[in-house]
Amino acid sequence: MLYQLRTSELLIIRNLKIRNSQEKNKMVRIIFYRKKCIGCNACVETNKNRWRVSRKDGKCNLVGGIEKKGIYRANADDEEYKMLMNAAKNCPVKIIKVEK
Ligand code: SF4
Repeated sequence: MLYQLRTSELLIIRNLKIRNSQEKNKMVRIIFYRKKCIGCNACVETNKNRWRVSRKDGKCNLVGGIEKKGIYRANADDEEYKMLMNAAKNCPVKIIKVEK
């Protein structure tokens, strides 16, 4: 049976393809246990766009992180992997996990 796609359906398919390709580029997962942060600033020094010290409590924030039960998670591009690994390595309390 021949089925013709409408313009709106074609747009939905195109958007899904774009989203899938964007998701493929975001291959790195960051897990951040914020409660134990001592606000030493070491992670901020590695990547100011990803880590920021909060003025409220002096602890670090994971930019783009989504919190669930006190644990923050975010996805990042593959290009950021090295900087994230440096942040994880330099964190004195080892509360940054990076998975690829
Ligand atoms: S390096 Fe670790 S302890 Fe220091 S501010 Fe960053 S997350 Fe907090």
